[in-house]
Amino acid sequence: MFLTIRTTGTAERPATDLGFLLHKHPDKAQSFPTAHGRAHVFYPEASAERCTAALLLEVDPVALVRRGKEKGRGGAPDAALAQYVNDRPYAASSLLSVALSTVFRSALRGECRARPERAEQPMPLRIEVPALPARGGPDLVNALFGPLGWTSVEAVPVPLDEEFPEWGDSRYVRLVLEGELRLADALRQLYVLLPVLDDAKHYWVAPDEVDKLIRAGEGWLADHPERKLITSRYLSRRWSLTRQATERLELVRLAEADLLEVEDVDNAVDETTDTEERPVPLAEQRREAILAVLRDSGSSRVLDLGCGQGQLVQALLKDVRFTEIVGVDVSVRALTIAARRLRLDRLGERQAGRVQLIQGALTYTDKRLTGYDAAVLSEVIEHLDLPRLPALEYAVFRAARPATVVVTTPNVEYNVRWESLPAGHVRHGDHRFEWTREEFRNWADTVAERTGYTVAYLPVGPDDPEVGPPTQMAVFTRTDTGPDTTNDSAEKEAKAA
Ligand code: SAH
Repeated sequence: MFLTIRTTGTAERPATDLGFLLHKHPDKAQSFPTAHGRAHVFYPEASAERCTAALLLEVDPVALVRRGKEKGRGGAPDAALAQYVNDRPYAASSLLSVALSTVFRSALRGECRARPERAEQPMPLRIEVPALPARGGPDLVNALFGPLGWTSVEAVPVPLDEEFPEWGDSRYVRLVLEGELRLADALRQLYVLLPVLDDAKHYWVAPDEVDKLIRAGEGWLADHPERKLITSRYLSRRWSLTRQATERLELVRLAEADLLEVEDVDNAVDETTDTEERPVPLAEQRREAILAVLRDSGSSRVLDLGCGQGQLVQALLKDVRFTEIVGVDVSVRALTIAARRLRLDRLGERQAGRVQLIQGALTYTDKRLTGYDAAVLSEVIEHLDLPRLPALEYAVFRAARPATVVVTTPNVEYNVRWESLPAGHVRHGDHRFEWTREEFRNWADTVAERTGYTVAYLPVGPDDPEVGPPTQMAVFTRTDTGPDTTNDSAEKEAKAA
């Protein structure tokens, strides 16, 4: 199994920087043990003008068979592995994909201390995979790599036997990709698409494969026209995982479409209030209100659910009483921006130990979210489709079940007070709904009652006598009685959703 990555350069930007980006020195040949044999990395050429890195995976077919048997799944899912003679040692498949992610782990993440600016930028690349099993043939190869920014995608069928062309083509193609891409993006595409084209995985697909797919798909998969096929094949057609991944990708797509568009209304200052001091943007008033509630509740371990670009996480970090802060968001891009804002890579060990950013969807129960003192949902619920709210209720109030839950959402009644907002418009393009004070209270009262919490309401921003405050906030406090299980409609609704 073989793959080469070639780049070109100049005296100022030498091609040999590829070695820094891959974290493998061009002057050395190195080899690494992997689960299925040895992976070798070496450079057939390495000059300032041209540098080629090669990854060769020497699969040990005996070890493959043995591993399959040890795990009690000698025959499944790929019965071919039970035989000693098959294409696995030669064809670029999920084995190569796993080797790629093991040997070039940092490069896949786009990390490069020595040349950080080069890791961020597109570079001329030529990637060749001489024997790629492609179920769906060259057409599918083109459909998969075509939309990903390559200037040329070449998939040439490999004849079954060069001496007997009349035998026709094999199911393998020689793949050559050329274009200017970030190395990390190119590697992540290969990591996902090699096993997708092979359409057979050498291992049992576990639920954490969904996370891996979403992470590796950052920046290219959510918008890909073939995302359904990619998702389904990557997850070996396991229906429930595919459905989960498809929904999460859709959330990512929607969240990212709106992410960089600032919530103008919230960040604008209210010019109508006549004060001597600097007017405070609503977003900042909201953060202060949330911090006050968290301090009052005596919480020290806090979840920021739907943390977006990490402004609240940043504010929490400044107060030492918050010893553990976890930001959760479905959008990898939001988390990347948050990590940059927090300068996670430059924080001292002690500070860095207090904060974690994790990718996750709030409409799914997540074990990582249990055991915290408080959870914040700041301006998040209105980004979910109404029918998905019971699923969020279940995941937050029943499964994660922190002692305190703070929820904020716009008060739609106040919209008439925003001069810049045309009548009848929601404040942000991605808001699925905006509630009146009564609608919010109805929801929160019901949730509190059936999940075993009490709830109190606080205004955020100027509390207008007629229309109320611009932001409404509910503070839920867990009671000891636990959820009401006699009438478990939330659970049923959540399951149905
Ligand atoms: N809490 C931040 C960001 C609010 S914007 C603030 O107050 O400024 C809403 C955020 O929720 C976005 O970052 C979006 O990606 C995230 N989000 C929306 N639906 C989500 C879901 N189902 N699971 C996790 N995060 C979600």
